[in-house]
Amino acid sequence: MIDLKRFELWFVTGSQTLYGEETLKQVADHARTVAEGLNAAAAIPVRVVYQPPVTSPDSILHVCRQANARSECVGLVTWMHTFSPAKMWIAGLRELCKPFVHLHTQFNRDLPWDAIDMDFMNLNQSAHGDREFGFLCSRMGLRRTVVVGHWQDPQVRQRLGEWSRAAVGRHELRSLRVARFGDNMREVAVTEGDKVEAQIVLGCSVLGYGVGDLAAAVRDVSEAEIDRLVAEYDERYMVAKELRADGARRGDLREAARIELGLRAFLHDGGFAALTDTFQDLHGLRQLPGLAIQRLMADGYGFGAEGDWKTAAMARAMKVMAAGLPGGTSFMEDYTYHLAPGEELVLGAHMLEVCPSIAVDRPSLEIHPLSIGGKEDPVRLVFDARPGPAVNAALMDFGDRFRLLVNAVETIPPPAKLPRLPVARAMWKPLPDFKTAAECWILAGGAHHMVFSHAVTVSMLEDLADMLGVEFLAIGRETNGTAFRREVRSANDRRR
Ligand code: MN
Repeated sequence: MIDLKRFELWFVTGSQTLYGEETLKQVADHARTVAEGLNAAAAIPVRVVYQPPVTSPDSILHVCRQANARSECVGLVTWMHTFSPAKMWIAGLRELCKPFVHLHTQFNRDLPWDAIDMDFMNLNQSAHGDREFGFLCSRMGLRRTVVVGHWQDPQVRQRLGEWSRAAVGRHELRSLRVARFGDNMREVAVTEGDKVEAQIVLGCSVLGYGVGDLAAAVRDVSEAEIDRLVAEYDERYMVAKELRADGARRGDLREAARIELGLRAFLHDGGFAALTDTFQDLHGLRQLPGLAIQRLMADGYGFGAEGDWKTAAMARAMKVMAAGLPGGTSFMEDYTYHLAPGEELVLGAHMLEVCPSIAVDRPSLEIHPLSIGGKEDPVRLVFDARPGPAVNAALMDFGDRFRLLVNAVETIPPPAKLPRLPVARAMWKPLPDFKTAAECWILAGGAHHMVFSHAVTVSMLEDLADMLGVEFLAIGRETNGTAFRREVRSANDRRR
């Protein structure tokens, strides 16, 4: 399980020495109260850690350096309680390598109409103190998110929570190791990319292995371990008759368990939290890993099929960002369409590898032939995705930059049963409508592989792109086709 409470968001309050000791004491008291309030907020999944107010270039530089050095610190919340002349922030912000969110708030919600005097005004002047800070950030060209409103406002807390989830995603990408078994599916373009640039921009390292290395780990699995795992399958899923203990194909299920155990051991020993494989390179494996990949994803691993390491990395980042929220997150592909006018639907699926975290109910464990790959029939979990709002996110490498493209969708129950479809699937209506969404996605060069999530929001992904310095485009309820086409054309024209 992914525990976000081990991450810290540092609450840093700016002021200056002009106002005297008594005022600074009040500033510190207020800042502690705000930080404690945010720390207790359910919408904020990380720990909010109060830092004493900073009033000089030295103290600002010091706290920025401390934040850089603390690995649990995923980012900063900055707030100018009083007026904090922003030249004091230049040295610190120049060295700060953690993302920050600028909280534009003030301690009191309401003006004390009868009591307000000049002392009150001087104590509570973030209305312009935060503007001074904002100017300097823009002058320095720093990417940041600005959240506005009273610190007890649920929407403000929600927004800070989303931002902190993005910061955790960035933090995860910085140290993520992706295991890549085999190379790319031959001739496929969008799953390729510059891994060195990805490591510089995103942070993740992608390490290639011959599938024979994995096959050796699979061979090392003991029969006793397999006994234990198939017993778990029997308990967790609706197992097809032929795969049950007395079924004719129990041996194929045991083989799937062997692959899962070998994969888990390999990933654990190598410190990997994401992986890719390809059906074109499975030497030494008897089945394309299906059930194994589905269950690894359910445990938080990122995955991309056909060598798609960018989607694998994004899937892992988004799983960490989604930790503790209702709904699931999965590798996904637009597979086929229902094109009835006005009722268009996308059927999302993959050959096998859809994560059961998105399932609406208990998955069914089945075995069916796979028409490509030339291996034995693979075991897989079959289910429908739970209805409700979701996003699809794809990361592409355009040679001179990465682009993160997001489409908000409405997941729906399939309008009819799909009795002969032997894979897990999600059905959705893309927003704002099918034609606009598909046209915009294709014009923006959006991949056919994506990460689907009920839990991660468009705002979280926009914050993440901002923190990474990656181009961001979103298609959703508000998207106007004409405006989006113009935006994409100008983005596409921005080439070397
Ligand atoms: Mn695919």
